Amino acid sequence: MTSYYNKVLEPTSRTTLRRRAGRAKYDRAAIDAILDEGLVGHLGICDPDGQPVVLPVTYARLADDIVFHGAALGRLLGTLAQGVPVCFTVTLLDGLVLARSAFHHSMNYRSLVVLGEARALRDTEAKLAALTAVVDHVAPGRSADVRGPSRQELAATEVATLPLREASAKIRTGPPVDAAEDYALPCWAGELPLSLAAGAPLADARCAAPTPAYIDPYRRIHAKSIAA
Ligand SMILES: Cc1cc2nc3c(=O)[nH]c(=O)nc-3n(C[C@H](O)[C@H](O)[C@H](O)COP(=O)(O)OP(=O)(O)OC[C@H]3O[C@@H](n4cnc5c(N)ncnc54)[C@H](O)[C@@H]3O)c2cc1C
Repeated sequence: MTSYYNKVLEPTSRTTLRRRAGRAKYDRAAIDAILDEGLVGHLGICDPDGQPVVLPVTYARLADDIVFHGAALGRLLGTLAQGVPVCFTVTLLDGLVLARSAFHHSMNYRSLVVLGEARALRDTEAKLAALTAVVDHVAPGRSADVRGPSRQELAATEVATLPLREASAKIRTGPPVDAAEDYALPCWAGELPLSLAAGAPLADARCAAPTPAYIDPYRRIHAKSIAA
């Protein structure tokens, strides 16, 4: 299914785009760039009653896996750790696409769907590596500055990993595509670019440390090297 030699994921029957197939990307460069830039993903599982639940989570890419963490007693990570089928998505919104007709309005985006089964990480070293990756995913370099998890904190935290094997990216760029007869309409049409921007850091009142460089300036656009 997966070839890491040329770093392109083979589309499966489940990840082959049928709608707007030309927007599909399966190469790891495109997939990893979305994962590495995103801060929040959405994890979909079916709970034990068969009810689909989609919840926002933070995550990190660790080479060829996506790692998640959460309360060991929580439903999400508890269910995930049992190896149930999951669907994980990340969406980067790049802009609004305002067409001349209501029908052709759209958005510019880079989005990712990952399917598979997660498994729990129980080995202490592997758990620590995954948690470090999550901290550094949010703020690269942060793990070196902060206290790591205590034994109790580690025990209270469930960590799960999802292999990056069956996945698709979908990318839309560019202006609206209107019906030929609508180009004569007088209304404004075009793109409104959107991006995530950090505000000025607000130091905690009891913090005397200088602001670290990874916080100011803070940028999400950083391509991690692929350690595949
Ligand atoms: C910000 C944003 C807003 C959107 N708004 C809408 C909306 O309002 N209405 C709407 O119908 N669609 C919307 N889409 C597109 C939507 O995500 C689906 O691509 C689309 O609905 C087609 O779904 P499908 O199941 O018919 O696709 P199919 O092509 O049949 O899906 C087959 C497989 O292709 C892959 N795939 C499909 N969509 C995506 C995707 N977005 N990213 C990565 N892989 C994908 C998956 O692996 C999926 O299992 C939006 C997408 C984004 C990112």
